[in-house]
Amino acid sequence: MKDVHEALNLREANMVATYLEDQGILADVRGGAYQAVVGELSNIRGTLPRVWVLEDGDAERAARLVATFVASLRATPEGEPWVCACGETLEPQFQSCWKCQAPKPV
Ligand SMILES: [Zn+2]
Repeated sequence: MKDVHEALNLREANMVATYLEDQGILADVRGGAYQAVVGELSNIRGTLPRVWVLEDGDAERAARLVATFVASLRATPEGEPWVCACGETLEPQFQSCWKCQAPKPV
């Protein structure tokens, strides 16, 4: 397990982890609210969520992918965030839901 990204919030952490898995890299989110819910490692409760890769050999590639992905994620979005049918709120630059893959409604 290697720590590849400290996210601003759980939503970003989940998006990064989902993105890595789409690239064939097994990833997991630790810390933040998720950890508080799970109840493990309560000493880090309240800290920012972090994204870990399960295979150490993927860490270098994951770090490069994450850097690019997060830069686009944090770029100034145009328009308003939209809410998917599944209830997830998405930034306007996303054309589909990261959670359920539903396309952005027109
Ligand atoms: Zn959705």
